[in-house]
Amino acid sequence: MSDASPLPLRLCGPCVACCRWLQIDKPEIRKASGVPCRHLVEARGCAIHAVRPAICREWFCGWRQSAFFPEALRPDQSGVIVLMDEPAPARPGEEPGAALCLLLIAPVERVLNGPFVELVSRLLGAAVPVLLGLPGPPGATGARVLVNNHARSVADGQGLADLLRALAADLQASRFSPERYAHAGPDFGAESRA
Ligand code: SF4
Ligand code: SF4
Repeated sequence: MSDASPLPLRLCGPCVACCRWLQIDKPEIRKASGVPCRHLVEARGCAIHAVRPAICREWFCGWRQSAFFPEALRPDQSGVIVLMDEPAPARPGEEPGAALCLLLIAPVERVLNGPFVELVSRLLGAAVPVLLGLPGPPGATGARVLVNNHARSVADGQGLADLLRALAADLQASRFSPERYAHAGPDFGAESRA
């Protein structure tokens, strides 16, 4: 997670996707990916909103940061969390750099029915490095693939949808590893409440 500035009129509303899907590894709060934060209350959101940790105050998904992403891409509606400035593998002839990661948190067919394909097409057309990401099982690292390395021959929207479908299927077949943590924080996800 990295610090960022949100757009004034882009509010989370009922979305709590990052509180559910992302790993947090900070001294003050630690939770596994794919597991609701223990402070997340159904239909109410964060139960400690007024005193939530700094990471929760300072981090925003890409949808909250940039008008490049359409309104309909709000993560709980689109099934996609945009992660900014994620490490990207080196492309042929280039140094490793940063990429956008489009993390799928809903079934791929549902995601493909929304604004996702057009967004990926625009990003690729602007030569933005784009990672397609899939969460692993709860508590496991997810899988990612650099779409740009596979999209050179895609000329139309249907071809791109087929490519994204195929890449998501490949990611689904990945071997997922348990997440690592730098902090032994006192705050764990719902898996620790048993
Ligand atoms: S994923 Fe984005 S819109 Fe959703 S709660 Fe997190 S910051 Fe807000
Ligand atoms: S403390 Fe609140 S804002 Fe932070 S992850 Fe948990 S539910 Fe979300």
